[in-house]
Amino acid sequence: MTNTIPLVDLKAAYARLRAEIDAAVARVLAGGWYILGPEVSAFEAEFAAYLGASHAVGVASGTDAVLLALRALGVGPGDEVITVAHTAVATVAAIALCGATPRFVDIDPATYTLDPGRLEAAITPRTRAVVPVHLYGAPADMPPILAIARAHGLLVVEDCAQAHGATTGGRRVGTLGDAAAFSFYPTKNLGALGDGGAVVTDRPDVAERLRLLRQYGWRERYVSDVEGVNSRLDELQAAILRVRLRHLDAENAARRRLAARYDAALAGLPLGLPAAWPDERAVYHLYVVAADDRDALAAHLAAQGIGTGVHYPVPIHRQPAYARLGYGPGSLPATEAAAARVLSLPMYPDLSAAAVDQVAAAAHSYFETSEAETSEVF
Ligand SMILES: *Cc1c(COP(=O)(O)O)cnc(C)c1O
Repeated sequence: MTNTIPLVDLKAAYARLRAEIDAAVARVLAGGWYILGPEVSAFEAEFAAYLGASHAVGVASGTDAVLLALRALGVGPGDEVITVAHTAVATVAAIALCGATPRFVDIDPATYTLDPGRLEAAITPRTRAVVPVHLYGAPADMPPILAIARAHGLLVVEDCAQAHGATTGGRRVGTLGDAAAFSFYPTKNLGALGDGGAVVTDRPDVAERLRLLRQYGWRERYVSDVEGVNSRLDELQAAILRVRLRHLDAENAARRRLAARYDAALAGLPLGLPAAWPDERAVYHLYVVAADDRDALAAHLAAQGIGTGVHYPVPIHRQPAYARLGYGPGSLPATEAAAARVLSLPMYPDLSAAAVDQVAAAAHSYFETSEAETSEVF
């Protein structure tokens, strides 16, 4: 008898933290202050302290976090911003929304993150910023990216939407560049029960500008100093995030244990397994394998009640909305190869070791079956 194993299980996390979350929600409801109040201020201070950053500014989503970080740094129309096409569309949408032109660099096929060896060739006189993405919970290769950015006077905005708590060289991601964007979408490692995001920075001028931009450009109520937007983190989400932040390290440790169990159980199969830079601690937002026959493997797992996902099936440069950027098929070979091969296996802190073993057994049975079919031909 096998159990159904979903790709992600948010109800399990809520059930585990229910007493604390319900108390936080009740406190906000009874407090009568629902937007930009004491919970948001407290969460901003606690999240900044957790990361080892000077400032965190709550905003409405991760997309807005990337957008407002770039705007606060003065990036806009006429500027080019370099990022990857193997990411959530939000990274690129935010660059376009600030008025800049997204430019793509291919990924390192081993780690799925921005290939620093290809960064310099993408820099033009209009390049203002680089947005490396710490994809799947694994830090991008930051030392060379930061060195190249510094040499060319480029800003660095880390996209940390999938990497809350990950470290590289002993520092949390989000503290390495000029600013960093986090999403608190419910499935993220630090997830709200609705939308939310934050920008983290050590620069007081950038933090101050973000506080203006997120609320109509107001320094003083009803007077817009700059052209702002409405992008606020609400008190309910902030109160929930304060609870979840206290459990983040334990949850990330659970994800790492489950990933190590997958690594051992899947070793020897014709699958690409997650790779790491030396001196980094990934937080396994997703556990992603690579398979030549990805769709057949996914179908085999689905038939056994195992949920999987593809992050992401269509690289951004091949999506209709971004065809205008002019990247044809074959222009980012490692990105396109990854999109065809990646498969995300079930991964969440409440996943059991037995479930990991069940997924691994199902993967083994897939390759045994397909080997038997192949040998029948001969
Ligand atoms: C989720 C995500 C975002 C966007 O976050 P939202 O809160 O959904 O707007 C941005 N970048 C990456 C890499 C993401 O995974």
